Amino acid sequence: MRRVLSPVTLGGLALPHRVVMGSMHLGIEDRDDGGAALAAFYAARAAGGAGLIVTGGSAVNRVGTGGVHYSVVGEREHAPRLARVAEAVHETGGLIALQLFHAGRYAFAASFGLRPVAPSAVPSRFSPDPPRALTGAEIAATIDDFARGAATARRLGFDAVELMGSEGYLLNQFTSAVTNRRDDGWGGDAARRRAFPLAVLAAVRDAAGADFPVLYRMSGADLMDGAPDTDEVLALARELARAGAAALNVGIGWHESRVPTVQAVVPPGTWAPYPARIRAAVAGAVPVIASNRINRLAQAEQLLAAGDADLVSLARPFLADPELIARSRAARPVNVCIGCNQACIDRSLADEPVSCMVNPAAGRELSLLPAAGFADPGAAVADATRAGGGERGRDRRRYAVVGAGPAGLAAAHALATAGERVVLYEAADEPGGQFRLARLVPGKADYGATIEYYAAELAALGVELRLAHPVGPDDRAELAGCAGIVLATGVLPRPVDLPGADGPNVLTYPQAFAAADRLGERVVVVGGGGIAVDLAHLLSHGRTDGDERNRFRAEHGLAAPLGVTGGRQVTLLRRGPRIGTGIGRTTRWALLAALRRRGVLLRTGVRYDRITPAGVLLAGADGPELVPADTVVVAAGQLPADALRPMIAELAVPYRVVGGAADGAVDAVTAFAAGAEAGRALR
Ligand code: SF4
Repeated sequence: MRRVLSPVTLGGLALPHRVVMGSMHLGIEDRDDGGAALAAFYAARAAGGAGLIVTGGSAVNRVGTGGVHYSVVGEREHAPRLARVAEAVHETGGLIALQLFHAGRYAFAASFGLRPVAPSAVPSRFSPDPPRALTGAEIAATIDDFARGAATARRLGFDAVELMGSEGYLLNQFTSAVTNRRDDGWGGDAARRRAFPLAVLAAVRDAAGADFPVLYRMSGADLMDGAPDTDEVLALARELARAGAAALNVGIGWHESRVPTVQAVVPPGTWAPYPARIRAAVAGAVPVIASNRINRLAQAEQLLAAGDADLVSLARPFLADPELIARSRAARPVNVCIGCNQACIDRSLADEPVSCMVNPAAGRELSLLPAAGFADPGAAVADATRAGGGERGRDRRRYAVVGAGPAGLAAAHALATAGERVVLYEAADEPGGQFRLARLVPGKADYGATIEYYAAELAALGVELRLAHPVGPDDRAELAGCAGIVLATGVLPRPVDLPGADGPNVLTYPQAFAAADRLGERVVVVGGGGIAVDLAHLLSHGRTDGDERNRFRAEHGLAAPLGVTGGRQVTLLRRGPRIGTGIGRTTRWALLAALRRRGVLLRTGVRYDRITPAGVLLAGADGPELVPADTVVVAAGQLPADALRPMIAELAVPYRVVGGAADGAVDAVTAFAAGAEAGRALR
């Protein structure tokens, strides 16, 4: 970590290390709390060692907002909130840049009775509202809005601004012939398409002062058909450097690109060549920041050591662990972002408040999690126990958590960080629950890092982890002496009621994950939910002699093809109309596209007849149809594994049932959050 944790100067700002916390929209930017929640979020990251933080995009005018909860830097009610954010970060020793943002044709302006604006009237797959073309006068006014936004940011106490010019937003729309079909001073050839971002940069520098750093988030590759070629990208980089940008922060891909950029299926480090070529082109004239799919400081260190960038920008990793920097400096375990997108980007796109699957406290630094609805036959007992005194001076109480999957790990963590004694029982010989299966799936190895993080944290907090200990009647007396119990025993695979389902060629999905190397060449999966998709991904992935990053690039037309061997013929069968229900919006399409590329057959609306030794027999309009298989795997949902509930309910001890044990669902976002909530509620 020698390089990445070494100090650097950027636009006159002395940064303690080379990790910039990247921009993330949080969905609480307009919360009517005076900016308290927003300030607490950023202050927690600054306190955890973040050096320079870039805020979520603050729109320079109302028509440029990316959703209903965006802040608008020019509107009066947002100023106190933004000022509070800057002050809170400064109080904890950090630096903060306001990102100036305009969504252009990606705006959801109809929510405000407005029509999105863009260089040209080119609709997008990403936004439901078609844009209209900006007039020349409106372009000039928009440049003024950026300039005023920068001056306001400085007045409100920010240390810098970043211009959002990547990911397909307005500035990026001007640089691309896909969306800029003008033939005036703002479009017509590559040089004129660069005129708008350069004019914005110049105006912003004029308004904010030459000593005020202006970072520019530029697109290293739009990943769109007809996008600017490498020469155009590098020309923009050189001109931005000449125009005084304090840094070039290199983003990858547009929201409507069909190449995934930040999903777990993208191998970390895939995008390093893009900042590298920009860095070579600007030849030291301006620092270059690499971003996208960098989720560990060790990767960042390699990237810097290879000379691919001067700094790195990490965003979601700061959701997963606000103490990412401090923990890394102290060689303590880090809660790694696993690239699931489920509680962050998917929620942001749905205009919901952002959090993090593996860190449910993210975005809830003040309110934490509401306590509601747990079965509490012994509330009076708990109250009496609580009456013993303050947080520090009283005796620690003992709590039991049964099950060490996501919900149980989070519950044990919440209780232990509050100073309580915790015994965590787990029937398997390893914690992790469903995460132990997920980590086997290509692209999901980091789910194993979550298990490692929680195991290490719980050990450091003194939690007693009893592995290979299925709780039963012998534990009754011990549980009865606890101050509270969390039942987090997860789920069981749901059996299917089909003739032949008990045959020797039929496996449950946990059995199939465990025996993935030994299954036959033709596998039929009965079921089409998230677990079935994961299993199909694992079984069809195959092997390559090359680096997974090159394989990913080859599969998406970004590099020469690589040979792949060993993938099986996999068929998913589903009664319902949709494969992959329950998978997040930003991940489902990428996973299904990968399956189709590998020849996985995705069949919906099927009617089962029976399972035979030769495969699955379907009932069709024209008679039975055999889908041949050496192995049939049942992944047709789950049932709550809550057999202990009656015994625990009899103990007159406050308890909560959480995660899959409560509802039979496999939803890790809910499970982590419910576990943490239960831990807090039981105290
Ligand atoms: Fe990372 Fe998933 Fe957390 Fe988002 S929700 S920050 S992708 S771990």
